[in-house]
Amino acid sequence: MKPVYSVVIPAYNEQEVIAETYRRLTSVMRGMGETYELVFVNDGSRDETAKIIAGFCESDSSVRLLNFTRNFGHMPALTAGMDYAQGAAVFVIDADLQDPPEVFPQMAALWKQGYDVVYGKRKRRRGETVFKRWSAKIFYRLINALTTVELPVDTGEFRLIDRKVCDAVNQLHEKNRYIRGLVSWVGFKQVAVEYVREERFAGETKYPLKKMLAFAMDALTSFSYKPLKLATTLGFFISLLSFVYMLFILFQRLFTDTTITGWASTVGLILFTQGIVLMILGLMGEYIGRIYDEIKNRPVYILREKLGYENAEKAD
Ligand code: UDP
Ligand code: MG
Repeated sequence: MKPVYSVVIPAYNEQEVIAETYRRLTSVMRGMGETYELVFVNDGSRDETAKIIAGFCESDSSVRLLNFTRNFGHMPALTAGMDYAQGAAVFVIDADLQDPPEVFPQMAALWKQGYDVVYGKRKRRRGETVFKRWSAKIFYRLINALTTVELPVDTGEFRLIDRKVCDAVNQLHEKNRYIRGLVSWVGFKQVAVEYVREERFAGETKYPLKKMLAFAMDALTSFSYKPLKLATTLGFFISLLSFVYMLFILFQRLFTDTTITGWASTVGLILFTQGIVLMILGLMGEYIGRIYDEIKNRPVYILREKLGYENAEKAD
């Protein structure tokens, strides 16, 4: 029998929190009084995370563990969880308890009222650095300004999605997956639930600046061509400016006798335009690299093993 609810939990080096996460999720899910499964995805953790979860699998038949062969990243981990989740509704939550599972019943109630996606919207973020909060704020607004799909602001991966939304997203085979964007893109009836984002229960963030930037680039390139058009617009304005400047030089040459001492301006202009050209080239590279990823058509993740499915499959 397929469970009513699946909970997808990506985990990367979360040995300090994972037991507490399991405890809180279990108590919330039991309280909801319907069948459920907890789908943990171990994204190549180098600590004891996998071992701890495997322990839960042995004592609790509602726990599943998908073990990756290495660290593939947060989005691939969610992709795997969503591929294997069997529930009629699928919750997605981080392993660090920053998103409170106690919001689940409220999300489920909205789902039962007929909403297909119930996403958590952060009313406040506790215990995160000013830099993280501001970079996130600017990021969500920038993305929205540059893309045509409406992507809800201040929303992470904390949400409930209906089976049909999960299937729809699983059918999108792009490799660099910005999942919250894909969920918006597929449409359906969506609604927000506000919550306060808590401090991490333990451990530290697995999103250093480098990963955050890569993530932002994925989001941008997956949903917008506007940066590519930047080249055209900038090129046009720079040509226009150069033309006006040329007229000015011509005028100087013909009608005045000021000696031309234009070294500074020449060098300045060259550096400026070269900088822009390089920037645009880099941007093109970002898109081309992603096209290359698609062409290679490698899987988004590779599983080493699946635990907790033996009983579940027999019961089917
Ligand atoms: N995560 C993952 N693979 C990664 C990085 C993160 O599965 O390569 C998981 C991590 O264990 C957590 C979630 O993704 O459950 C969000 O990560 P984190 O809490 O570190 O990000 P933050 O909340 O600081 O943005
Ligand atoms: Mg976190």
